[in-house]
Amino acid sequence: MTFSYQEFAREKMPALLADLKDLIAIDSVRNMDLATPEFPVGPGPVKALEKFLALADRDGFQTANIDNYAGVVTFGQGNQELGVAVHVDVVPPDEGWSQDPFTPWVKDGRVFGRGTSDNKGPALAAYYALLALKEAGFQPKKKISLIIGTDEETDWVGMKYYLQKRPAPDWVFSPDSSFPIVTGQAGLAVLKTDFIGKEATGLTLESFFAGQATNMIPAAATAVVSGENLEKIAAAFPDFLAKKGLTGEIKETASENGNCLKISLEGVSAHASVPWEGKNGACLLASFLRDFPFTGRAKNFLDFAGDLELEDYYGEKIGIANTDSEMGKSINCPAVFRYQRDQAEALPARPAT
Ligand SMILES: [Zn+2]
Repeated sequence: MTFSYQEFAREKMPALLADLKDLIAIDSVRNMDLATPEFPVGPGPVKALEKFLALADRDGFQTANIDNYAGVVTFGQGNQELGVAVHVDVVPPDEGWSQDPFTPWVKDGRVFGRGTSDNKGPALAAYYALLALKEAGFQPKKKISLIIGTDEETDWVGMKYYLQKRPAPDWVFSPDSSFPIVTGQAGLAVLKTDFIGKEATGLTLESFFAGQATNMIPAAATAVVSGENLEKIAAAFPDFLAKKGLTGEIKETASENGNCLKISLEGVSAHASVPWEGKNGACLLASFLRDFPFTGRAKNFLDFAGDLELEDYYGEKIGIANTDSEMGKSINCPAVFRYQRDQAEALPARPAT
């Protein structure tokens, strides 16, 4: 009997889509506020891991849950091992979704939902490839292990634990986000930047907020300003938005420091590895504000975010540019912005994978 993998793929497509929808519906964002010994990075990633292993149990594979840190689906026997590394955790959905990111939908032949491409879809594609081998009666001479991580997006807690408990495979590839495989991931460094400087009275930056994860370009950014020049800022903002093709709004608010403007801008999010595909809302809002006479720490912060970091995709302007012979240029992603008037805060940047 011959086995047609195209026929198998056609036949299994509805099942794969149903499994993908079930996995996407599990909010598997790392949440250390809910972490316990049972749930090392919070309950969400564990629920997704359990779901994935249940699919493999359903289809008759040998599975193991490595103490809720990682899981493995095994096929075949042999002294040597091929590892296929996937993960079921996802980054926070951030704002700007047209529908609930955990209720997946299909449009124009594509699936939408948080984690569809990173990494639940590719993880399932690899899993169904393993199922195809099994149903074809293939008997590998080596052991194939589909290894499921739960913390790829942050600290790799799952994979580190896995490697304490199990030997590293002889070969590994990772079907993560890109088709067909990713053979390597660049290293990363998270840089935290604090600002100093004495502010004069006048125009004051009360707060600036954007970004939730170090590996995403932030879309939404919000600043609150008080003091002088508020009318000028309010008058200039619509022109800036029109020129940059952005949306945003200004609202008058009040605080203990008197009248304030709350200025919000909506950019376009993108993964940290391709920051040029997005519009960094934080850098753009800072670039708008730095045209006004802020002083001291606020000015230093806005100059950094709105000038040096604006479209500095390779870290050239901030002096961290690097090229690796295997991985190419390091990528700079200004991602999380927290500024409060009276406290020094952080601005991490991440050269991404
Ligand atoms: Zn991934």
